Amino acid sequence: MQATEQTQNLQKADEKYLWHAMRGAAPSPTNLIITKAEGAWVTDIDGNRYLDGMSGLWCVNVGYGRKELARAAFEQLEEMPYFPLTQSHVPAIKLAEKLNEWLGDDYVIFFSNSGSEANETAFKIARQYHQQKGGHGRYKFISRYRAYHGNSMGALAATGQAQRKYKYEPLGQGFLHVAPPDTYRNPDDVNTLASADEIDRVMTWELSQTVAGLIMEPIITGGGILMPPDGYMAKVKEICEKHGALLICDEVICGFGRTGKPFGFMNYGVKPDIITMAKGITSAYLPLSATAVRREVYEAYMGSEDYDRFRHVNTFGGNPAACALALKNLEIMENEKLIERSKELGERLLYELEDVKEHPNVGDVRGKGLLLGIELVEDKQTKEPAAIEKVNKVINACKEKGLIIGKNGDTVAGYNNILQLAPPLCITEEDFTFIVKTIKECLSQL
Ligand code: PMP
Repeated sequence: MQATEQTQNLQKADEKYLWHAMRGAAPSPTNLIITKAEGAWVTDIDGNRYLDGMSGLWCVNVGYGRKELARAAFEQLEEMPYFPLTQSHVPAIKLAEKLNEWLGDDYVIFFSNSGSEANETAFKIARQYHQQKGGHGRYKFISRYRAYHGNSMGALAATGQAQRKYKYEPLGQGFLHVAPPDTYRNPDDVNTLASADEIDRVMTWELSQTVAGLIMEPIITGGGILMPPDGYMAKVKEICEKHGALLICDEVICGFGRTGKPFGFMNYGVKPDIITMAKGITSAYLPLSATAVRREVYEAYMGSEDYDRFRHVNTFGGNPAACALALKNLEIMENEKLIERSKELGERLLYELEDVKEHPNVGDVRGKGLLLGIELVEDKQTKEPAAIEKVNKVINACKEKGLIIGKNGDTVAGYNNILQLAPPLCITEEDFTFIVKTIKECLSQL
Protein backbone atom coordinates (compact mmCIF):
# COMPACT_ATOMS: atom_id res chain seq x y z
CA MET A 1 0.00 0.00 0.00
CA GLN A 2 1.17 3.56 -0.79
CA ALA A 3 2.30 5.79 2.10
CA THR A 4 -0.24 8.56 2.73
CA GLU A 5 0.62 12.15 3.62
CA GLN A 6 -0.15 11.40 7.27
CA THR A 7 2.36 8.54 7.20
CA GLN A 8 5.01 10.70 5.58
CA ASN A 9 4.57 13.39 8.26
CA LEU A 10 4.86 10.82 11.02
CA GLN A 11 7.95 9.36 9.38
CA LYS A 12 9.51 12.82 9.31
CA ALA A 13 8.73 13.40 12.99
CA ASP A 14 10.02 9.92 13.78
CA GLU A 15 13.31 10.67 12.04
CA LYS A 16 13.61 14.00 13.75
CA TYR A 17 12.72 13.17 17.36
CA LEU A 18 13.08 9.45 18.04
CA TRP A 19 16.39 7.82 18.74
CA HIS A 20 15.70 4.20 17.88
CA ALA A 21 17.23 1.21 19.57
CA MET A 22 20.44 -0.04 17.92
CA ARG A 23 20.63 2.92 15.55
CA GLY A 24 22.99 5.80 14.89
CA ALA A 25 21.82 9.16 13.62
CA ALA A 26 20.95 8.00 10.12
CA PRO A 27 17.29 8.14 9.07
CA SER A 28 15.50 4.80 8.98
CA PRO A 29 12.95 5.05 6.19
CA THR A 30 12.09 1.37 6.48
CA ASN A 31 10.82 1.62 10.05
CA LEU A 32 7.39 0.13 10.44
CA ILE A 33 4.99 2.36 12.32
CA ILE A 34 2.62 -0.14 13.87
CA THR A 35 -0.82 1.02 14.89
CA LYS A 36 -2.82 -2.14 15.51
CA ALA A 37 -2.12 -5.71 16.51
CA GLU A 38 -4.18 -8.84 17.01
CA GLY A 39 -3.12 -12.42 17.63
CA ALA A 40 0.20 -12.94 15.83
CA TRP A 41 -0.48 -10.11 13.38
CA VAL A 42 0.51 -6.44 13.38
CA THR A 43 -0.83 -3.71 11.08
CA ASP A 44 1.13 -0.63 10.06
CA ILE A 45 -0.16 2.88 9.65
CA ASP A 46 -0.91 2.27 5.96
CA GLY A 47 -2.87 -0.88 6.61
CA ASN A 48 -0.16 -3.40 5.63
CA ARG A 49 -0.38 -6.58 7.72
CA TYR A 50 2.51 -8.72 8.91
CA LEU A 51 2.72 -11.90 10.91
CA ASP A 52 5.18 -11.00 13.66
CA GLY A 53 7.50 -13.98 13.52
CA MET A 54 9.70 -12.48 16.26
CA SER A 55 6.94 -11.73 18.84
CA GLY A 56 8.30 -8.17 19.01
CA LEU A 57 11.65 -8.84 20.70
CA TRP A 58 10.88 -12.48 21.53
CA CYS A 59 8.36 -11.40 24.12
CA VAL A 60 4.69 -11.21 23.10
CA ASN A 61 4.17 -14.87 24.04
CA VAL A 62 0.35 -14.87 24.30
CA GLY A 63 -0.01 -12.70 21.20
CA TYR A 64 -1.39 -9.22 20.69
CA GLY A 65 -4.78 -7.73 21.44
CA ARG A 66 -5.62 -9.59 24.67
CA LYS A 67 -8.26 -7.36 26.19
CA GLU A 68 -8.26 -9.33 29.44
CA LEU A 69 -4.64 -8.29 30.02
CA ALA A 70 -5.52 -4.63 29.53
CA ARG A 71 -8.48 -5.08 31.88
CA ALA A 72 -6.37 -6.73 34.59
CA ALA A 73 -3.95 -3.79 34.54
CA PHE A 74 -6.75 -1.20 34.39
CA GLU A 75 -8.66 -2.68 37.33
CA GLN A 76 -5.49 -2.86 39.43
CA LEU A 77 -4.60 0.74 38.55
CA GLU A 78 -8.04 1.86 39.69
CA GLU A 79 -7.88 -0.16 42.89
CA MET A 80 -4.31 0.53 44.00
CA PRO A 81 -1.79 1.77 41.45
CA TYR A 82 1.43 1.69 43.40
CA PHE A 83 3.13 0.81 46.59
CA PRO A 84 6.82 -0.03 46.95
CA LEU A 85 8.04 -3.54 47.62
CA THR A 86 9.99 -2.33 50.64
CA GLN A 87 6.46 -3.09 51.99
CA SER A 88 4.05 -5.38 50.14
CA HIS A 89 0.92 -5.66 48.00
CA VAL A 90 -1.42 -8.44 46.92
CA PRO A 91 -0.54 -8.76 43.18
CA ALA A 92 3.19 -9.18 44.00
CA ILE A 93 2.46 -11.80 46.67
CA LYS A 94 0.16 -13.74 44.35
CA LEU A 95 2.57 -13.56 41.42
CA ALA A 96 5.55 -14.71 43.52
CA GLU A 97 3.44 -17.66 44.68
CA LYS A 98 2.37 -18.44 41.10
CA LEU A 99 5.93 -18.27 39.77
CA ASN A 100 6.91 -20.84 42.39
CA GLU A 101 4.24 -23.13 41.01
CA TRP A 102 5.67 -22.65 37.51
CA LEU A 103 9.21 -23.20 38.75
CA GLY A 104 8.11 -26.41 40.47
CA ASP A 105 10.40 -25.76 43.42
CA ASP A 106 11.12 -23.49 46.32
CA TYR A 107 12.26 -20.05 45.13
CA VAL A 108 12.00 -16.54 46.59
CA ILE A 109 11.25 -13.80 44.08
CA PHE A 110 12.76 -10.30 43.71
CA PHE A 111 10.92 -8.11 41.18
CA SER A 112 12.48 -5.54 38.82
CA ASN A 113 11.53 -3.99 35.46
CA SER A 114 13.72 -5.42 32.71
CA GLY A 115 15.83 -8.44 31.86
CA SER A 116 19.02 -6.43 32.35
CA GLU A 117 17.94 -5.42 35.84
CA ALA A 118 16.95 -8.98 36.72
CA ASN A 119 20.50 -10.06 35.82
CA GLU A 120 22.12 -7.19 37.74
CA THR A 121 20.05 -8.21 40.74
CA ALA A 122 21.23 -11.81 40.34
CA PHE A 123 24.90 -10.73 40.29
CA LYS A 124 24.49 -8.68 43.46
CA ILE A 125 22.58 -11.44 45.24
CA ALA A 126 25.27 -13.97 44.27
CA ARG A 127 28.21 -11.81 45.38
CA GLN A 128 26.65 -11.02 48.72
CA TYR A 129 25.51 -14.64 49.16
CA HIS A 130 29.14 -15.73 49.19
CA GLN A 131 30.02 -12.97 51.66
CA GLN A 132 27.17 -14.04 53.93
CA LYS A 133 28.72 -17.54 53.84
CA GLY A 134 32.20 -16.17 54.53
CA GLY A 135 33.55 -16.39 50.96
CA HIS A 136 34.78 -12.83 50.74
CA GLY A 137 36.85 -13.11 47.57
CA ARG A 138 34.14 -14.59 45.34
CA TYR A 139 33.27 -11.90 42.84
CA LYS A 140 33.88 -13.31 39.35
CA PHE A 141 31.21 -14.45 36.91
CA ILE A 142 31.70 -16.74 33.94
CA SER A 143 29.46 -16.50 30.88
CA ARG A 144 29.63 -17.62 27.27
CA TYR A 145 30.77 -15.75 24.19
CA ARG A 146 27.92 -14.93 21.81
CA ALA A 147 25.34 -14.74 24.62
CA TYR A 148 23.48 -11.51 25.37
CA HIS A 149 22.56 -10.68 28.96
CA GLY A 150 21.50 -7.03 28.85
CA ASN A 151 22.48 -3.42 28.25
CA SER A 152 23.53 -2.17 31.71
CA MET A 153 27.14 -2.09 32.85
CA GLY A 154 27.11 -5.46 34.63
CA ALA A 155 24.76 -7.31 32.29
CA LEU A 156 26.70 -5.96 29.32
CA ALA A 157 29.95 -7.10 30.94
CA ALA A 158 28.42 -10.60 31.16
CA THR A 159 27.38 -10.38 27.51
CA GLY A 160 29.73 -12.22 25.17
CA GLN A 161 29.39 -9.99 22.11
CA ALA A 162 32.37 -7.63 21.98
CA GLN A 163 31.02 -5.33 19.29
CA ARG A 164 28.20 -4.28 21.62
CA LYS A 165 30.67 -3.53 24.40
CA TYR A 166 33.94 -1.99 23.32
CA LYS A 167 32.67 1.58 22.93
CA TYR A 168 31.33 1.65 26.48
CA GLU A 169 34.21 0.13 28.40
CA PRO A 170 35.22 -0.10 31.17
CA LEU A 171 32.18 -2.13 32.17
CA GLY A 172 31.54 -3.99 35.40
CA GLN A 173 34.66 -5.84 36.55
CA GLY A 174 35.15 -9.54 37.11
CA PHE A 175 33.34 -11.01 34.08
CA LEU A 176 35.07 -13.79 32.10
CA HIS A 177 33.93 -15.68 29.04
CA VAL A 178 34.21 -19.18 27.64
CA ALA A 179 33.27 -20.58 24.22
CA PRO A 180 29.66 -21.71 23.80
CA PRO A 181 28.89 -25.15 22.41
CA ASP A 182 28.18 -24.99 18.68
CA THR A 183 26.61 -28.24 17.56
CA TYR A 184 26.82 -27.25 13.89
CA ARG A 185 30.31 -25.79 13.57
CA ASN A 186 32.19 -27.70 16.25
CA PRO A 187 30.49 -31.09 16.46
CA ASP A 188 33.64 -32.75 17.81
CA ASP A 189 33.84 -30.38 20.78
CA VAL A 190 30.23 -31.03 21.38
CA ASN A 191 30.59 -34.80 21.33
CA THR A 192 33.30 -34.60 23.96
CA LEU A 193 31.50 -31.81 25.86
CA ALA A 194 34.77 -29.89 25.53
CA SER A 195 32.97 -26.57 25.84
CA ALA A 196 31.79 -27.56 29.33
CA ASP A 197 35.27 -28.78 30.26
CA GLU A 198 36.56 -25.32 29.45
CA ILE A 199 34.37 -23.91 32.23
CA ASP A 200 35.96 -26.34 34.66
CA ARG A 201 39.45 -25.27 33.56
CA VAL A 202 38.67 -21.54 33.74
CA MET A 203 37.16 -21.87 37.22
CA THR A 204 40.24 -23.79 38.35
CA TRP A 205 42.74 -21.40 36.78
CA GLU A 206 40.91 -18.34 38.06
CA LEU A 207 40.88 -19.95 41.52
CA SER A 208 37.51 -21.30 42.64
CA GLN A 209 37.60 -19.08 45.72
CA THR A 210 37.29 -16.02 43.48
CA VAL A 211 34.33 -17.28 41.41
CA ALA A 212 30.81 -16.22 42.42
CA GLY A 213 28.81 -17.86 39.65
CA LEU A 214 28.11 -18.68 36.05
CA ILE A 215 25.31 -17.15 34.00
CA MET A 216 23.87 -18.92 30.98
CA GLU A 217 20.81 -19.10 28.80
CA PRO A 218 19.73 -22.73 28.38
CA ILE A 219 19.78 -22.08 24.62
CA ILE A 220 21.81 -19.08 23.44
CA THR A 221 19.15 -17.09 21.61
CA GLY A 222 20.39 -13.71 20.35
CA GLY A 223 23.82 -15.16 19.51
CA GLY A 224 22.35 -17.58 16.97
CA ILE A 225 20.14 -20.29 18.55
CA LEU A 226 23.02 -22.35 19.95
CA MET A 227 21.57 -25.54 21.37
CA PRO A 228 23.29 -27.23 24.30
CA PRO A 229 24.35 -30.76 23.39
CA ASP A 230 23.08 -33.69 25.46
CA GLY A 231 24.47 -33.61 28.96
CA TYR A 232 25.95 -30.09 28.65
CA MET A 233 23.78 -28.29 31.18
CA ALA A 234 23.97 -31.12 33.70
CA LYS A 235 27.73 -31.05 33.36
CA VAL A 236 27.85 -27.27 33.81
CA LYS A 237 25.77 -27.60 36.98
CA GLU A 238 28.13 -30.29 38.26
CA ILE A 239 31.15 -28.07 37.52
CA CYS A 240 29.53 -25.13 39.33
CA GLU A 241 28.88 -27.32 42.36
CA LYS A 242 32.44 -28.60 42.32
CA HIS A 243 33.78 -25.04 42.40
CA GLY A 244 31.17 -23.68 44.82
CA ALA A 245 29.83 -21.29 42.15
CA LEU A 246 26.13 -20.45 41.75
CA LEU A 247 24.40 -21.40 38.50
CA ILE A 248 22.35 -18.45 37.23
CA CYS A 249 19.96 -19.26 34.43
CA ASP A 250 18.95 -16.35 32.17
CA GLU A 251 15.40 -17.27 31.13
CA VAL A 252 14.61 -13.82 29.73
CA ILE A 253 13.85 -15.31 26.30
CA CYS A 254 13.71 -19.07 27.00
CA GLY A 255 11.17 -18.71 29.81
CA PHE A 256 7.37 -18.74 29.69
CA GLY A 257 6.87 -21.47 27.13
CA ARG A 258 9.22 -20.31 24.38
CA THR A 259 11.08 -23.66 24.29
CA GLY A 260 8.03 -25.84 24.93
CA LYS A 261 8.51 -25.99 28.73
CA PRO A 262 7.58 -23.42 31.37
CA PHE A 263 11.30 -22.55 31.58
CA GLY A 264 14.13 -23.52 29.24
CA PHE A 265 16.26 -25.23 31.89
CA MET A 266 13.44 -27.74 32.40
CA ASN A 267 14.39 -29.33 29.08
CA TYR A 268 17.73 -30.34 30.58
CA GLY A 269 16.95 -31.72 34.05
CA VAL A 270 18.95 -29.25 36.14
CA LYS A 271 17.99 -26.94 38.99
CA PRO A 272 19.61 -23.51 38.78
CA ASP A 273 20.40 -21.54 41.95
CA ILE A 274 19.08 -18.30 40.50
CA ILE A 275 16.68 -17.82 37.58
CA THR A 276 16.15 -14.48 35.84
CA MET A 277 13.06 -13.77 33.78
CA ALA A 278 11.37 -10.86 31.96
CA LYS A 279 9.75 -10.45 28.51
CA GLY A 280 7.18 -13.31 28.44
CA ILE A 281 6.26 -12.78 32.10
CA THR A 282 3.81 -10.08 30.94
CA SER A 283 4.05 -10.91 27.22
CA ALA A 284 5.65 -7.42 27.20
CA TYR A 285 2.31 -5.64 27.70
CA LEU A 286 3.92 -3.90 30.71
CA PRO A 287 7.53 -3.88 31.99
CA LEU A 288 8.29 -6.45 34.68
CA SER A 289 11.11 -8.85 35.48
CA ALA A 290 11.99 -11.22 38.27
CA THR A 291 15.00 -12.84 39.89
CA ALA A 292 14.05 -16.16 41.49
CA VAL A 293 16.45 -17.33 44.17
CA ARG A 294 16.66 -20.85 45.56
CA ARG A 295 15.55 -20.82 49.19
CA GLU A 296 18.91 -22.05 50.42
CA VAL A 297 20.63 -19.06 48.80
CA TYR A 298 18.03 -16.71 50.26
CA GLU A 299 18.48 -18.21 53.70
CA ALA A 300 22.15 -17.23 53.71
CA TYR A 301 20.79 -13.72 54.27
CA MET A 302 18.84 -14.74 57.35
CA GLY A 303 19.73 -13.25 60.68
CA SER A 304 21.82 -10.59 58.91
CA GLU A 305 22.64 -7.52 60.89
CA ASP A 306 20.97 -4.39 59.59
CA TYR A 307 24.08 -3.37 57.65
CA ASP A 308 24.23 -6.86 56.13
CA ARG A 309 20.81 -7.08 54.50
CA PHE A 310 20.43 -7.09 50.72
CA ARG A 311 20.81 -3.41 49.94
CA HIS A 312 18.92 -3.32 46.69
CA VAL A 313 15.73 -1.53 45.74
CA ASN A 314 14.09 -0.24 42.60
CA THR A 315 11.13 2.10 42.62
CA PHE A 316 9.05 0.52 39.89
CA GLY A 317 9.95 -3.16 40.34
CA GLY A 318 6.88 -5.33 40.92
CA ASN A 319 4.44 -2.56 40.02
CA PRO A 320 0.95 -3.79 41.04
CA ALA A 321 -0.60 -3.35 37.58
CA ALA A 322 2.31 -5.21 35.95
CA CYS A 323 1.99 -8.05 38.50
CA ALA A 324 -1.80 -8.27 38.04
CA LEU A 325 -1.32 -8.36 34.28
CA ALA A 326 1.40 -11.03 34.60
CA LEU A 327 -0.96 -13.22 36.64
CA LYS A 328 -3.60 -12.97 33.93
CA ASN A 329 -0.95 -13.64 31.27
CA LEU A 330 0.11 -16.87 33.03
CA GLU A 331 -3.56 -17.84 33.40
CA ILE A 332 -4.02 -17.46 29.63
CA MET A 333 -0.97 -19.64 28.97
CA GLU A 334 -2.36 -22.30 31.30
CA ASN A 335 -5.95 -22.18 30.01
CA GLU A 336 -4.94 -22.24 26.37
CA LYS A 337 -2.17 -24.79 26.95
CA LEU A 338 0.27 -22.54 25.11
CA ILE A 339 3.36 -24.27 26.48
CA GLU A 340 2.20 -27.63 25.14
CA ARG A 341 1.30 -25.88 21.89
CA SER A 342 4.77 -24.36 21.63
CA LYS A 343 6.32 -27.82 22.08
CA GLU A 344 4.04 -29.44 19.52
CA LEU A 345 4.36 -26.69 16.91
CA GLY A 346 8.13 -26.58 17.40
CA GLU A 347 8.39 -30.27 16.61
CA ARG A 348 6.14 -29.89 13.60
CA LEU A 349 8.12 -26.89 12.39
CA LEU A 350 11.38 -28.88 12.38
CA TYR A 351 9.58 -31.70 10.58
CA GLU A 352 8.04 -29.39 7.95
CA LEU A 353 11.38 -27.69 7.35
CA GLU A 354 13.31 -30.93 7.00
CA ASP A 355 13.43 -30.56 3.20
CA VAL A 356 14.89 -27.02 3.27
CA LYS A 357 18.10 -28.65 4.53
CA GLU A 358 18.55 -29.83 0.93
CA HIS A 359 18.97 -26.23 -0.21
CA PRO A 360 22.64 -25.47 -1.02
CA ASN A 361 22.61 -22.37 1.22
CA VAL A 362 21.01 -23.98 4.25
CA GLY A 363 23.67 -25.35 6.60
CA ASP A 364 21.55 -26.15 9.62
CA VAL A 365 17.98 -25.91 10.92
CA ARG A 366 17.65 -26.13 14.70
CA GLY A 367 15.47 -25.11 17.61
CA LYS A 368 13.16 -26.11 20.42
CA GLY A 369 9.55 -25.06 20.88
CA LEU A 370 8.72 -21.91 18.93
CA LEU A 371 12.36 -20.87 18.79
CA LEU A 372 14.02 -21.61 15.48
CA GLY A 373 17.32 -20.84 13.77
CA ILE A 374 18.20 -21.47 10.12
CA GLU A 375 21.93 -21.12 9.52
CA LEU A 376 22.71 -19.95 5.99
CA VAL A 377 26.05 -20.78 4.37
CA GLU A 378 27.82 -20.12 1.08
CA ASP A 379 29.10 -23.64 0.90
CA LYS A 380 27.87 -26.68 2.78
CA GLN A 381 31.31 -28.34 2.84
CA THR A 382 33.32 -25.41 4.16
CA LYS A 383 30.36 -24.01 6.17
CA GLU A 384 31.44 -20.52 5.11
CA PRO A 385 28.74 -18.25 6.52
CA ALA A 386 26.37 -16.76 3.95
CA ALA A 387 27.00 -13.17 2.87
CA ILE A 388 24.73 -10.63 4.51
CA GLU A 389 23.15 -9.79 1.13
CA LYS A 390 21.83 -13.34 0.90
CA VAL A 391 20.48 -13.25 4.45
CA ASN A 392 18.81 -9.90 3.87
CA LYS A 393 17.33 -11.15 0.62
CA VAL A 394 15.42 -13.85 2.49
CA ILE A 395 14.37 -11.48 5.27
CA ASN A 396 13.15 -8.85 2.80
CA ALA A 397 11.35 -11.41 0.68
CA CYS A 398 9.56 -12.67 3.82
CA LYS A 399 8.60 -9.10 4.73
CA GLU A 400 7.27 -8.51 1.22
CA LYS A 401 5.01 -11.51 1.72
CA GLY A 402 3.95 -10.33 5.18
CA LEU A 403 6.22 -12.30 7.53
CA ILE A 404 8.65 -10.63 9.93
CA ILE A 405 11.68 -12.76 10.84
CA GLY A 406 15.04 -11.86 12.43
CA LYS A 407 18.74 -12.56 11.93
CA ASN A 408 21.77 -12.98 14.13
CA GLY A 409 24.98 -14.95 14.39
CA ASP A 410 28.62 -14.66 15.34
CA THR A 411 28.47 -10.90 14.85
CA VAL A 412 31.96 -10.21 16.24
CA ALA A 413 33.38 -12.44 13.54
CA GLY A 414 31.22 -10.45 11.10
CA TYR A 415 28.53 -13.06 10.45
CA ASN A 416 24.86 -12.33 10.65
CA ASN A 417 23.91 -15.52 8.88
CA ILE A 418 21.33 -17.17 11.12
CA LEU A 419 17.66 -16.54 10.38
CA GLN A 420 15.54 -16.44 13.50
CA LEU A 421 11.90 -17.23 14.07
CA ALA A 422 10.05 -16.94 17.39
CA PRO A 423 6.36 -16.24 16.74
CA PRO A 424 3.72 -15.78 19.46
CA LEU A 425 2.80 -19.11 21.08
CA CYS A 426 -0.85 -18.54 20.15
CA ILE A 427 -0.34 -18.87 16.37
CA THR A 428 -3.23 -20.58 14.60
CA GLU A 429 -2.96 -23.51 12.20
CA GLU A 430 -3.40 -21.03 9.37
CA ASP A 431 -0.55 -18.88 10.73
CA PHE A 432 1.64 -21.96 11.03
CA THR A 433 0.99 -22.97 7.42
CA PHE A 434 1.67 -19.40 6.27
CA ILE A 435 5.02 -19.30 8.12
CA VAL A 436 6.22 -22.62 6.67
CA LYS A 437 5.09 -21.76 3.15
CA THR A 438 6.61 -18.26 3.22
CA ILE A 439 9.99 -19.40 4.58
CA LYS A 440 10.21 -22.14 1.96
CA GLU A 441 9.26 -19.85 -0.89
CA CYS A 442 11.71 -17.14 0.17
CA LEU A 443 14.60 -19.57 0.67
CA SER A 444 13.95 -21.00 -2.77
CA GLN A 445 14.55 -17.54 -4.25
CA LEU A 446 18.22 -17.75 -3.24
N1 PMP B 1 18.89 -11.60 28.70
C1 PMP B 1 18.56 -12.05 27.49
C2 PMP B 1 18.80 -13.48 27.15
C3 PMP B 1 17.95 -11.20 26.57
O1 PMP B 1 17.62 -11.63 25.36
C4 PMP B 1 17.71 -9.85 26.94
C5 PMP B 1 17.03 -8.88 25.98
N2 PMP B 1 16.92 -9.22 24.68
C6 PMP B 1 18.11 -9.43 28.20
C7 PMP B 1 18.68 -10.32 29.06
C8 PMP B 1 17.89 -8.02 28.62
O2 PMP B 1 16.55 -7.74 28.75
P1 PMP B 1 16.00 -6.23 28.68
O3 PMP B 1 16.13 -5.77 27.27
O4 PMP B 1 14.59 -6.36 29.15
O5 PMP B 1 16.84 -5.43 29.64
